[in-house]
Amino acid sequence: MNRRTFLTSGSLAFAGYAIGGCATTGSSRGTTAMPRRPPVQLAQVRASFDRIIRTTVGLRPHRDSGFVLRADKLDAKTLIHNYGYAGTGMSLAWGAGILVSEFAQATGDRRVAVIGCGSPGLCAARQLQRRGFDVTIYAATVPPDTTSNMSLAGFTPTTALVSNDRRTPAWDAQFLRAAELSYRQLQLMVGQNYGVYWMDSYNATDNPNQQGRGGGPGGAAGPGPSAGSGQGGRGGGAEAGGATDADLLPPELRPNRNREVLGPGEHPFPTKYAIRTPALAIEPNIYMDALVRDFLMFGGKIVIRKFDTPRDLMTLNEPIVVNCTGLGSFTLFDDKELVPIKGQLTALVAQPEVNYRANGRAPNGGNASMNSRSDGIIIGNLQDRGNWSLEPDQDVIQRNVQAAIDFFALVRPPAPGARLTRSEPPQTMPSVNSFFDAQS
Ligand SMILES: Cc1cc2nc3c(=O)[nH]c(=O)nc-3n(C[C@H](O)[C@H](O)[C@H](O)COP(=O)(O)OP(=O)(O)OC[C@H]3O[C@@H](n4cnc5c(N)ncnc54)[C@H](O)[C@@H]3O)c2cc1C
Repeated sequence: MNRRTFLTSGSLAFAGYAIGGCATTGSSRGTTAMPRRPPVQLAQVRASFDRIIRTTVGLRPHRDSGFVLRADKLDAKTLIHNYGYAGTGMSLAWGAGILVSEFAQATGDRRVAVIGCGSPGLCAARQLQRRGFDVTIYAATVPPDTTSNMSLAGFTPTTALVSNDRRTPAWDAQFLRAAELSYRQLQLMVGQNYGVYWMDSYNATDNPNQQGRGGGPGGAAGPGPSAGSGQGGRGGGAEAGGATDADLLPPELRPNRNREVLGPGEHPFPTKYAIRTPALAIEPNIYMDALVRDFLMFGGKIVIRKFDTPRDLMTLNEPIVVNCTGLGSFTLFDDKELVPIKGQLTALVAQPEVNYRANGRAPNGGNASMNSRSDGIIIGNLQDRGNWSLEPDQDVIQRNVQAAIDFFALVRPPAPGARLTRSEPPQTMPSVNSFFDAQS
Protein backbone atom coordinates (compact mmCIF):
# COMPACT_ATOMS: atom_id res chain seq x y z
CA MET A 1 0.00 0.00 0.00
CA ASN A 2 1.18 3.48 -0.73
CA ARG A 3 2.16 5.00 2.54
CA ARG A 4 0.32 8.22 1.76
CA THR A 5 -2.99 6.36 1.69
CA PHE A 6 -2.57 5.88 5.40
CA LEU A 7 -2.86 9.50 6.34
CA THR A 8 -2.86 12.77 4.59
CA SER A 9 -3.23 15.48 7.15
CA GLY A 10 -1.30 15.93 10.32
CA SER A 11 -4.24 16.62 12.60
CA LEU A 12 -6.27 13.75 11.21
CA ALA A 13 -3.23 11.59 11.18
CA PHE A 14 -2.56 12.21 14.78
CA ALA A 15 -6.19 11.78 15.82
CA GLY A 16 -6.51 8.57 13.84
CA TYR A 17 -3.39 7.22 15.36
CA ALA A 18 -4.56 7.94 18.87
CA ILE A 19 -8.09 6.65 18.40
CA GLY A 20 -7.21 3.62 16.31
CA GLY A 21 -4.85 2.07 18.78
CA CYS A 22 -5.75 0.70 22.19
CA ALA A 23 -2.30 1.73 23.25
CA THR A 24 -2.15 5.46 23.38
CA THR A 25 0.53 7.37 21.57
CA GLY A 26 0.84 8.52 25.10
CA SER A 27 4.34 9.85 25.00
CA SER A 28 3.22 13.14 26.49
CA ARG A 29 1.67 11.16 29.36
CA GLY A 30 4.74 9.06 29.82
CA THR A 31 3.26 5.75 28.61
CA THR A 32 4.96 3.50 26.14
CA ALA A 33 3.99 4.19 22.56
CA MET A 34 3.07 1.35 20.24
CA PRO A 35 3.86 2.09 16.65
CA ARG A 36 0.82 1.58 14.42
CA ARG A 37 2.58 1.85 11.09
CA PRO A 38 5.74 0.27 9.79
CA PRO A 39 8.64 2.55 10.66
CA VAL A 40 10.05 4.83 8.03
CA GLN A 41 13.41 3.50 6.86
CA LEU A 42 15.81 6.20 5.78
CA ALA A 43 19.30 5.89 4.37
CA GLN A 44 21.84 7.21 6.82
CA VAL A 45 23.46 10.58 6.25
CA ARG A 46 27.22 10.30 6.57
CA ALA A 47 28.19 13.66 8.01
CA SER A 48 31.84 14.35 8.77
CA PHE A 49 34.35 17.12 8.21
CA ASP A 50 36.40 15.03 5.79
CA ARG A 51 33.38 14.63 3.49
CA ILE A 52 33.14 18.41 2.84
CA ILE A 53 33.53 19.12 -0.87
CA ARG A 54 32.72 22.85 -1.01
CA THR A 55 31.05 25.78 0.73
CA THR A 56 29.07 28.32 -1.27
CA VAL A 57 27.87 31.81 -0.38
CA GLY A 58 25.02 33.79 -1.94
CA LEU A 59 23.47 37.14 -1.02
CA ARG A 60 19.68 37.18 -1.09
CA PRO A 61 18.45 40.55 -2.41
CA HIS A 62 16.00 41.70 0.26
CA ARG A 63 13.86 44.84 0.49
CA ASP A 64 11.67 45.46 3.52
CA SER A 65 8.85 46.60 1.24
CA GLY A 66 9.23 43.51 -0.95
CA PHE A 67 10.21 42.93 -4.57
CA VAL A 68 9.87 45.62 -7.25
CA LEU A 69 7.73 44.70 -10.23
CA ARG A 70 6.63 47.75 -12.21
CA ALA A 71 7.09 49.59 -15.50
CA ASP A 72 8.87 52.98 -15.69
CA LYS A 73 10.15 55.18 -18.48
CA LEU A 74 13.85 55.61 -19.25
CA ASP A 75 13.76 58.37 -21.88
CA ALA A 76 12.08 56.72 -24.87
CA LYS A 77 12.53 53.21 -23.51
CA THR A 78 10.22 51.22 -21.25
CA LEU A 79 12.08 50.03 -18.19
CA ILE A 80 10.44 47.13 -16.34
CA HIS A 81 11.85 46.43 -12.90
CA ASN A 82 11.80 42.82 -11.66
CA TYR A 83 14.10 42.37 -8.68
CA GLY A 84 14.39 42.11 -4.90
CA TYR A 85 13.20 38.52 -4.41
CA ALA A 86 15.25 37.79 -1.28
CA GLY A 87 14.82 34.06 -0.46
CA THR A 88 12.13 33.50 -3.11
CA GLY A 89 13.85 34.14 -6.43
CA MET A 90 13.71 30.48 -7.46
CA SER A 91 10.08 30.24 -6.33
CA LEU A 92 8.35 33.32 -7.74
CA ALA A 93 10.28 33.90 -10.97
CA TRP A 94 7.96 32.17 -13.45
CA GLY A 95 4.90 34.06 -12.26
CA ALA A 96 6.82 37.32 -12.04
CA GLY A 97 7.90 36.66 -15.64
CA ILE A 98 4.25 36.63 -16.75
CA LEU A 99 3.65 39.96 -15.01
CA VAL A 100 6.74 41.34 -16.78
CA SER A 101 5.35 40.10 -20.10
CA GLU A 102 2.08 41.88 -19.49
CA PHE A 103 3.89 45.19 -18.99
CA ALA A 104 5.89 44.50 -22.16
CA GLN A 105 2.80 43.60 -24.20
CA ALA A 106 1.24 46.93 -23.30
CA THR A 107 4.06 48.79 -25.13
CA GLY A 108 3.39 47.34 -28.58
CA ASP A 109 7.17 46.81 -29.07
CA ARG A 110 8.64 43.34 -29.62
CA ARG A 111 12.35 43.58 -28.83
CA VAL A 112 13.47 43.21 -25.25
CA ALA A 113 16.76 43.44 -23.37
CA VAL A 114 16.70 41.49 -20.12
CA ILE A 115 19.47 42.59 -17.76
CA GLY A 116 20.53 39.70 -15.51
CA CYS A 117 20.84 35.97 -16.00
CA GLY A 118 19.67 34.61 -12.64
CA SER A 119 16.37 32.83 -12.11
CA PRO A 120 14.22 36.03 -12.33
CA GLY A 121 16.04 37.10 -15.53
CA LEU A 122 15.88 33.73 -17.27
CA CYS A 123 12.25 33.05 -16.35
CA ALA A 124 11.19 36.53 -17.49
CA ALA A 125 13.11 35.98 -20.73
CA ARG A 126 11.38 32.63 -21.32
CA GLN A 127 7.92 34.03 -20.58
CA LEU A 128 8.60 36.86 -23.05
CA GLN A 129 9.79 34.38 -25.70
CA ARG A 130 6.65 32.31 -25.20
CA ARG A 131 4.66 35.43 -26.04
CA GLY A 132 6.58 36.14 -29.23
CA PHE A 133 9.18 38.65 -28.04
CA ASP A 134 12.70 38.76 -29.44
CA VAL A 135 14.87 38.64 -26.31
CA THR A 136 18.56 39.24 -25.59
CA ILE A 137 19.95 38.74 -22.09
CA TYR A 138 22.78 41.06 -21.02
CA ALA A 139 24.51 40.08 -17.80
CA ALA A 140 27.77 40.59 -15.96
CA THR A 141 27.74 36.93 -14.92
CA VAL A 142 25.88 33.84 -16.08
CA PRO A 143 25.25 30.41 -14.47
CA PRO A 144 26.96 28.92 -12.55
CA ASP A 145 28.15 32.33 -11.29
CA THR A 146 24.85 33.77 -10.10
CA THR A 147 23.16 33.99 -6.71
CA SER A 148 20.48 31.70 -8.07
CA ASN A 149 23.05 28.93 -8.45
CA MET A 150 23.95 29.35 -4.77
CA SER A 151 20.41 28.69 -3.58
CA LEU A 152 19.21 25.65 -1.67
CA ALA A 153 16.61 25.41 -3.34
CA GLY A 154 12.92 24.74 -3.22
CA PHE A 155 9.49 26.28 -3.56
CA THR A 156 9.66 28.69 -0.63
CA PRO A 157 7.55 31.63 -1.82
CA THR A 158 7.78 33.81 1.30
CA THR A 159 11.26 33.38 2.80
CA ALA A 160 12.61 36.71 4.05
CA LEU A 161 10.52 38.41 1.39
CA VAL A 162 8.83 41.39 2.99
CA SER A 163 8.14 43.13 6.28
CA ASN A 164 4.49 42.79 7.13
CA ASP A 165 4.17 46.47 8.02
CA ARG A 166 5.41 47.49 4.56
CA ARG A 167 2.96 45.42 2.50
CA THR A 168 0.29 47.10 0.37
CA PRO A 169 -2.82 45.54 -1.20
CA ALA A 170 -1.30 46.10 -4.66
CA TRP A 171 1.92 44.35 -3.67
CA ASP A 172 -0.02 41.48 -2.07
CA ALA A 173 -2.00 41.00 -5.29
CA GLN A 174 1.20 40.81 -7.35
CA PHE A 175 2.75 38.42 -4.86
CA LEU A 176 -0.23 36.05 -4.81
CA ARG A 177 -0.47 35.98 -8.58
CA ALA A 178 3.26 35.36 -8.96
CA ALA A 179 3.15 32.58 -6.36
CA GLU A 180 0.19 30.78 -7.92
CA LEU A 181 1.51 31.00 -11.49
CA SER A 182 4.99 29.88 -10.45
CA TYR A 183 3.73 26.96 -8.42
CA ARG A 184 1.77 25.69 -11.40
CA GLN A 185 4.76 26.08 -13.72
CA LEU A 186 7.18 24.32 -11.34
CA GLN A 187 4.80 21.37 -11.00
CA LEU A 188 5.06 20.92 -14.78
CA MET A 189 8.86 20.84 -14.57
CA VAL A 190 9.12 17.90 -12.18
CA GLY A 191 11.65 15.39 -13.48
CA GLN A 192 15.29 14.98 -14.33
CA ASN A 193 15.33 17.47 -17.23
CA TYR A 194 14.89 20.46 -14.95
CA GLY A 195 16.02 18.97 -11.65
CA VAL A 196 12.68 19.66 -9.93
CA TYR A 197 11.38 16.97 -7.57
CA TRP A 198 8.83 16.25 -4.90
CA MET A 199 10.80 15.30 -1.83
CA ASP A 200 9.82 14.33 1.70
CA SER A 201 10.97 16.75 4.35
CA TYR A 202 11.24 15.53 7.97
CA ASN A 203 11.19 17.86 10.92
CA ALA A 204 12.34 16.01 14.04
CA THR A 205 10.59 17.44 17.07
CA ASP A 206 9.16 16.67 20.50
CA ASN A 207 6.14 18.84 19.79
CA PRO A 208 3.66 17.15 17.44
CA ASN A 209 1.58 20.33 17.21
CA GLN A 210 4.44 22.43 15.99
CA GLN A 211 3.15 24.47 13.09
CA GLY A 212 4.94 25.25 9.96
CA ARG A 213 8.58 25.81 9.22
CA GLY A 214 8.70 22.53 7.40
CA GLY A 215 9.29 21.91 3.75
CA GLY A 216 12.71 23.38 3.70
CA PRO A 217 15.65 21.99 5.52
CA GLY A 218 15.85 25.31 7.28
CA GLY A 219 12.71 24.38 9.17
CA ALA A 220 13.22 24.68 12.87
CA ALA A 221 12.98 21.75 15.19
CA GLY A 222 11.59 23.76 18.00
CA PRO A 223 12.46 26.80 19.98
CA GLY A 224 16.10 27.52 20.34
CA PRO A 225 18.73 30.07 19.64
CA SER A 226 17.95 30.23 15.97
CA ALA A 227 14.25 30.93 16.33
CA GLY A 228 13.33 34.49 15.62
CA SER A 229 13.24 36.55 12.52
CA GLY A 230 15.56 34.27 10.66
CA GLN A 231 17.56 37.38 9.95
CA GLY A 232 20.33 37.38 12.42
CA GLY A 233 22.45 40.39 12.86
CA ARG A 234 26.14 40.17 12.33
CA GLY A 235 28.23 38.16 14.71
CA GLY A 236 27.88 34.83 13.00
CA GLY A 237 24.36 35.19 11.74
CA ALA A 238 21.28 33.18 12.40
CA GLU A 239 20.28 29.96 10.81
CA ALA A 240 17.03 29.92 8.93
CA GLY A 241 14.13 28.42 10.70
CA GLY A 242 12.49 30.93 12.95
CA ALA A 243 9.39 32.91 12.26
CA THR A 244 9.67 34.43 8.85
CA ASP A 245 9.08 38.10 8.31
CA ALA A 246 6.66 37.09 5.61
CA ASP A 247 3.77 35.56 7.45
CA LEU A 248 1.53 36.33 4.55
CA LEU A 249 -1.29 34.23 5.95
CA PRO A 250 -2.06 34.00 9.64
CA PRO A 251 -1.17 30.51 10.93
CA GLU A 252 -4.80 29.62 11.64
CA LEU A 253 -5.66 30.14 7.96
CA ARG A 254 -2.65 28.34 6.65
CA PRO A 255 -3.51 24.87 5.45
CA ASN A 256 -1.33 22.03 6.56
CA ARG A 257 0.74 20.83 3.69
CA ASN A 258 -0.27 17.16 3.78
CA ARG A 259 1.44 17.24 7.12
CA GLU A 260 1.91 13.79 8.66
CA VAL A 261 2.91 13.37 12.27
CA LEU A 262 4.97 10.22 12.72
CA GLY A 263 4.80 9.02 16.29
CA PRO A 264 7.28 7.18 18.49
CA GLY A 265 8.57 4.06 16.75
CA GLU A 266 7.39 5.23 13.33
CA HIS A 267 10.50 7.18 12.42
CA PRO A 268 14.25 6.92 13.04
CA PHE A 269 14.88 10.38 14.50
CA PRO A 270 16.08 10.97 18.08
CA THR A 271 12.88 12.84 18.97
CA LYS A 272 9.39 11.68 19.89
CA TYR A 273 7.89 12.83 16.63
CA ALA A 274 8.83 13.59 13.09
CA ILE A 275 6.63 15.81 10.97
CA ARG A 276 6.72 14.87 7.31
CA THR A 277 5.71 17.35 4.61
CA PRO A 278 6.21 17.27 0.85
CA ALA A 279 8.75 19.79 -0.46
CA LEU A 280 9.01 20.89 -4.07
CA ALA A 281 12.78 20.76 -4.41
CA ILE A 282 14.88 22.41 -7.10
CA GLU A 283 18.44 21.39 -7.97
CA PRO A 284 19.77 24.84 -8.84
CA ASN A 285 22.66 23.77 -11.06
CA ILE A 286 20.58 21.42 -13.22
CA TYR A 287 17.68 23.88 -13.29
CA MET A 288 19.67 26.98 -14.23
CA ASP A 289 21.53 25.17 -17.05
CA ALA A 290 18.22 23.87 -18.40
CA LEU A 291 16.76 27.40 -18.41
CA VAL A 292 19.79 28.71 -20.30
CA ARG A 293 19.47 25.87 -22.84
CA ASP A 294 15.77 26.51 -23.37
CA PHE A 295 16.37 30.23 -23.79
CA LEU A 296 19.06 29.64 -26.45
CA MET A 297 17.03 26.93 -28.17
CA PHE A 298 14.17 29.40 -28.62
CA GLY A 299 16.47 31.84 -30.43
CA GLY A 300 17.61 33.93 -27.47
CA LYS A 301 21.06 35.54 -27.28
CA ILE A 302 23.23 36.06 -24.21
CA VAL A 303 25.76 38.90 -24.09
CA ILE A 304 28.21 39.23 -21.21
CA ARG A 305 28.15 42.88 -20.26
CA LYS A 306 28.15 44.93 -17.08
CA PHE A 307 26.24 48.22 -16.82
CA ASP A 308 27.46 50.89 -14.41
CA THR A 309 24.69 53.47 -14.70
CA PRO A 310 21.18 53.65 -16.17
CA ARG A 311 22.67 55.84 -18.94
CA ASP A 312 24.64 52.78 -20.14
CA LEU A 313 21.31 51.12 -20.85
CA MET A 314 20.53 53.84 -23.39
CA THR A 315 23.19 52.36 -25.69
CA LEU A 316 21.04 49.24 -26.16
CA ASN A 317 18.93 48.94 -29.31
CA GLU A 318 15.98 47.28 -27.62
CA PRO A 319 13.08 49.62 -26.77
CA ILE A 320 12.11 47.52 -23.72
CA VAL A 321 14.60 46.87 -20.90
CA VAL A 322 13.80 44.47 -18.05
CA ASN A 323 15.89 44.97 -14.93
CA CYS A 324 16.56 41.60 -13.26
CA THR A 325 19.87 42.52 -11.63
CA GLY A 326 18.89 41.59 -8.07
CA LEU A 327 21.35 43.09 -5.60
CA GLY A 328 23.02 44.79 -8.60
CA SER A 329 20.21 47.38 -8.44
CA PHE A 330 21.75 48.71 -5.21
CA THR A 331 24.39 50.39 -7.39
CA LEU A 332 22.89 50.42 -10.88
CA PHE A 333 19.59 52.02 -9.84
CA ASP A 334 20.75 53.43 -6.51
CA ASP A 335 18.13 51.39 -4.63
CA LYS A 336 19.43 51.73 -1.11
CA GLU A 337 16.51 49.81 0.35
CA LEU A 338 18.18 46.67 -0.93
CA VAL A 339 20.03 44.76 1.75
CA PRO A 340 21.78 41.41 1.41
CA ILE A 341 20.77 38.43 3.51
CA LYS A 342 23.84 36.26 3.35
CA GLY A 343 23.35 32.54 2.84
CA GLN A 344 26.01 29.88 3.18
CA LEU A 345 25.74 26.19 2.32
CA THR A 346 28.28 23.43 2.85
CA ALA A 347 28.17 20.45 0.51
CA LEU A 348 29.28 16.99 1.61
CA VAL A 349 29.96 14.12 -0.79
CA ALA A 350 26.68 13.26 -2.54
CA GLN A 351 24.68 10.26 -1.34
CA PRO A 352 22.19 9.28 -4.03
CA GLU A 353 20.50 6.84 -1.64
CA VAL A 354 19.47 9.75 0.62
CA ASN A 355 16.31 11.04 -1.03
CA TYR A 356 14.82 13.20 1.66
CA ARG A 357 15.38 16.42 3.58
CA ALA A 358 15.63 16.58 7.34
CA ASN A 359 16.17 19.01 10.12
CA GLY A 360 16.31 18.79 13.88
CA ARG A 361 18.01 20.04 16.97
CA ALA A 362 21.41 18.55 17.80
CA PRO A 363 22.08 17.68 21.47
CA ASN A 364 24.26 20.79 21.88
CA GLY A 365 21.38 22.97 20.65
CA GLY A 366 22.66 23.56 17.12
CA ASN A 367 20.22 23.33 14.25
CA ALA A 368 21.01 20.44 11.92
CA SER A 369 19.68 21.05 8.43
CA MET A 370 20.17 18.60 5.56
CA ASN A 371 19.03 18.75 1.96
CA SER A 372 20.01 15.93 -0.38
CA ARG A 373 20.88 16.91 -3.95
CA SER A 374 22.69 15.11 -6.76
CA ASP A 375 25.61 17.53 -6.36
CA GLY A 376 25.97 16.96 -2.63
CA ILE A 377 24.44 16.60 0.78
CA ILE A 378 23.76 20.26 1.54
CA ILE A 379 24.22 21.28 5.15
CA GLY A 380 23.16 24.48 6.90
CA ASN A 381 21.27 27.51 5.78
CA LEU A 382 22.44 30.85 7.07
CA GLN A 383 20.35 34.03 6.97
CA ASP A 384 22.60 36.92 7.94
CA ARG A 385 21.06 40.30 7.21
CA GLY A 386 23.34 43.13 6.18
CA ASN A 387 26.38 40.94 5.58
CA TRP A 388 27.88 41.75 2.16
CA SER A 389 30.78 39.28 2.42
CA LEU A 390 31.00 36.58 -0.22
CA GLU A 391 33.64 34.78 1.85
CA PRO A 392 32.59 31.57 3.59
CA ASP A 393 32.44 32.05 7.36
CA GLN A 394 34.56 29.31 8.95
CA ASP A 395 32.67 29.43 12.26
CA VAL A 396 29.40 28.84 10.44
CA ILE A 397 30.89 25.85 8.59
CA GLN A 398 32.16 24.44 11.88
CA ARG A 399 28.82 24.97 13.64
CA ASN A 400 26.63 23.60 10.85
CA VAL A 401 28.67 20.51 10.09
CA GLN A 402 29.14 19.70 13.78
CA ALA A 403 25.37 19.99 14.35
CA ALA A 404 24.79 17.63 11.41
CA ILE A 405 27.38 15.14 12.73
CA ASP A 406 25.83 15.17 16.22
CA PHE A 407 22.24 14.95 15.01
CA PHE A 408 22.63 12.26 12.33
CA ALA A 409 24.76 10.11 14.65
CA LEU A 410 21.58 9.70 16.70
CA VAL A 411 19.34 8.80 13.76
CA ARG A 412 18.56 5.08 13.71
CA PRO A 413 19.99 3.29 10.65
CA PRO A 414 17.57 1.34 8.45
CA ALA A 415 16.83 -2.18 9.63
CA PRO A 416 19.05 -4.77 7.89
CA GLY A 417 17.46 -5.78 4.58
CA ALA A 418 14.58 -3.28 4.95
CA ARG A 419 13.39 -1.43 1.88
CA LEU A 420 14.15 2.26 2.12
CA THR A 421 11.19 4.63 2.23
CA ARG A 422 11.13 6.63 -0.99
CA SER A 423 10.00 10.21 -1.44
CA GLU A 424 6.88 10.26 -3.58
CA PRO A 425 4.76 12.98 -5.15
CA PRO A 426 1.89 13.90 -2.81
CA GLN A 427 -1.40 12.10 -3.48
CA THR A 428 -3.26 15.34 -2.98
CA MET A 429 -1.68 18.48 -4.35
CA PRO A 430 -0.89 20.87 -1.49
CA SER A 431 -2.32 24.36 -2.00
CA VAL A 432 0.10 27.14 -2.79
CA ASN A 433 -0.42 28.92 0.52
CA SER A 434 0.49 25.81 2.45
CA PHE A 435 4.07 26.60 1.38
CA PHE A 436 3.98 30.05 2.98
CA ASP A 437 5.97 28.75 5.94
CA ALA A 438 8.71 27.01 3.97
CA GLN A 439 12.18 28.35 4.68
CA SER A 440 15.18 28.57 2.41
C1 LIG B 1 21.73 30.00 0.52
C2 LIG B 1 20.55 30.42 -0.30
C3 LIG B 1 19.44 29.61 -0.36
C4 LIG B 1 18.35 29.99 -1.14
N1 LIG B 1 17.29 29.13 -1.24
C5 LIG B 1 16.22 29.49 -2.00
C6 LIG B 1 15.12 28.60 -2.13
O1 LIG B 1 15.10 27.52 -1.58
N2 LIG B 1 14.07 29.02 -2.88
C7 LIG B 1 14.05 30.24 -3.50
O2 LIG B 1 13.07 30.56 -4.15
N3 LIG B 1 15.10 31.08 -3.41
C8 LIG B 1 16.17 30.74 -2.67
N4 LIG B 1 17.21 31.60 -2.54
C9 LIG B 1 17.09 32.95 -3.11
C10 LIG B 1 17.46 33.02 -4.57
O3 LIG B 1 18.69 32.44 -4.79
C11 LIG B 1 17.46 34.49 -4.98
O4 LIG B 1 16.21 35.09 -4.70
C12 LIG B 1 17.70 34.65 -6.44
O5 LIG B 1 18.86 33.97 -6.80
C13 LIG B 1 17.84 36.10 -6.80
O6 LIG B 1 18.02 36.15 -8.16
P1 LIG B 1 18.56 37.45 -8.82
O7 LIG B 1 18.26 37.38 -10.27
O8 LIG B 1 18.06 38.62 -8.08
O9 LIG B 1 20.12 37.36 -8.59
P2 LIG B 1 21.20 36.57 -9.45
O10 LIG B 1 20.87 35.15 -9.57
O11 LIG B 1 22.53 36.90 -8.85
O12 LIG B 1 21.12 37.23 -10.85
C14 LIG B 1 21.45 38.58 -11.03
C15 LIG B 1 21.99 38.76 -12.43
O13 LIG B 1 22.14 40.16 -12.69
C16 LIG B 1 23.44 40.39 -13.18
N5 LIG B 1 23.82 41.75 -12.83
C17 LIG B 1 23.79 42.34 -11.62
N6 LIG B 1 24.21 43.60 -11.72
C18 LIG B 1 24.51 43.81 -13.01
C19 LIG B 1 25.00 44.94 -13.75
N7 LIG B 1 25.27 46.10 -13.15
N8 LIG B 1 25.21 44.80 -15.08
C20 LIG B 1 24.94 43.63 -15.69
N9 LIG B 1 24.48 42.54 -15.05
C21 LIG B 1 24.27 42.65 -13.73
C22 LIG B 1 24.28 39.32 -12.53
O14 LIG B 1 25.50 39.16 -13.22
C23 LIG B 1 23.34 38.13 -12.65
O15 LIG B 1 23.40 37.58 -13.93
C24 LIG B 1 18.34 31.23 -1.82
C25 LIG B 1 19.47 32.05 -1.75
C26 LIG B 1 20.57 31.66 -1.01
C27 LIG B 1 21.77 32.55 -0.98
